[in-house]
Amino acid sequence: MTEHGVVGFTGPDRPDAAIYDTCIRCGLCLPSCPTYLETMTETSGPRGRISLIKAVGESRLDLLSPGFVEQMWECLDCRACEAACPSGVHYGQLIETARAQIQRVKSSEQAPRSGRLRRFALQTLFSRLDLMRTAAVLLRLAQQTRLTAFAGLVGAARAAQLAPKISREFFVPRDQHYAAAEPHGTAFLHAGCIMQVAFAGVHRATVRMLRHGGLNVVVPSGQGCCGGIALHAGEMEFARELAKRNIEAFERSAADVYVVNAAGCGSALKEYGELFAADGDWAERAAHFSKRVRDVTEVLDALDLGAPARGLDAVVTYQDPCHLAHAQRVSGAPRRLLGQIPQLRLVEMEESAVCCGSAGIYSLTQPEMAARLQRRKIEAVIRTAATVVATANPGCAMQLAAGLRDAGYRAGVKHVVELLADAYAPES
Ligand code: SF4
Ligand code: SF4
Repeated sequence: MTEHGVVGFTGPDRPDAAIYDTCIRCGLCLPSCPTYLETMTETSGPRGRISLIKAVGESRLDLLSPGFVEQMWECLDCRACEAACPSGVHYGQLIETARAQIQRVKSSEQAPRSGRLRRFALQTLFSRLDLMRTAAVLLRLAQQTRLTAFAGLVGAARAAQLAPKISREFFVPRDQHYAAAEPHGTAFLHAGCIMQVAFAGVHRATVRMLRHGGLNVVVPSGQGCCGGIALHAGEMEFARELAKRNIEAFERSAADVYVVNAAGCGSALKEYGELFAADGDWAERAAHFSKRVRDVTEVLDALDLGAPARGLDAVVTYQDPCHLAHAQRVSGAPRRLLGQIPQLRLVEMEESAVCCGSAGIYSLTQPEMAARLQRRKIEAVIRTAATVVATANPGCAMQLAAGLRDAGYRAGVKHVVELLADAYAPES
């Protein structure tokens, strides 16, 4: 025990020494790290954070020392460093387990009340999607009556500003089955949490495109939240509870592929195998499940879509969601798909793969850094003169829309699959 009382990592879900010892301190990851680019400070970059994790792992630094805790939460968990690292340091494992260690100690010993309250709020919202839908109905009412203008009075101005426009009709998983004309397989559609209430149109566009490509689509009711937000918040046990639902729902469905259209969810779903690696009962099922998860752009890129029914007259720039480009290493498929739409001019923005500052609930927990990264991204968008910003993740869409609004720049924000559906399978 030292000044703050906790030395080293303990219990399950520890940062793996075999991973942090792989770092050769070359610094090649630094130019990819958004917080390093903004601060030019060693501790605000991946190499500095890995050193801090190693120091705690070797009991040279307290787990709850302010500098360590601050850096574990200033990191966006965007994984850009991981994609850039020539030594193959699996940084995502390090940051997520370091946070899990902090959260476990905080909620059990140091600050039991606030820790438990936070956990309760997280668990209620993401395991009870019926409650999330009720909250979304109330938010939609507030948005329609412009009551959100008063959010500042109750200290929720930032949340109201970032909140997505709630969909008129939700997309709730209720064992729907959408048949393709000449099917050659069946896709399980992951409905997610926020996607069902605020991006229902993206799900409908996904169904249209998958059917157009010859896949039946099923939306089983037993599925739920992917657990990504819980993972990033250091709540690994809760993430495992959520993951089990999706694994079981997919096994019951007998679908060929598990399709996801939210990059953050896709990354979490593809890593269930690692999440359960030490669990004898679930390891094999989780690994089998993860092998069948695909982002919708990967699926569509591999299908014969034929020629689009119509072109789209737009200047489009594509924002790489971190958890698609870095965690899943998917960046070519969305661009290839957009490039096939007649009249659409695809213009690359600078730093497309640098995080926009959304990163799950980061824009709420680290508002200053999130706002800096948001401005950096919007300036890059404006330089392209785009009329549409395409992306593939709800968090990015919300952050981009709010940033464009603040900057007074008129451009739409669309999911790639919405643009594809407009061109290939327009609604009659
Ligand atoms: S690129 Fe990899 S090995 Fe080099 S400093 Fe970054 S994490 Fe370490
Ligand atoms: S995950 Fe992102 S923010 Fe965190 S250290 Fe790596 S590049 Fe930087």
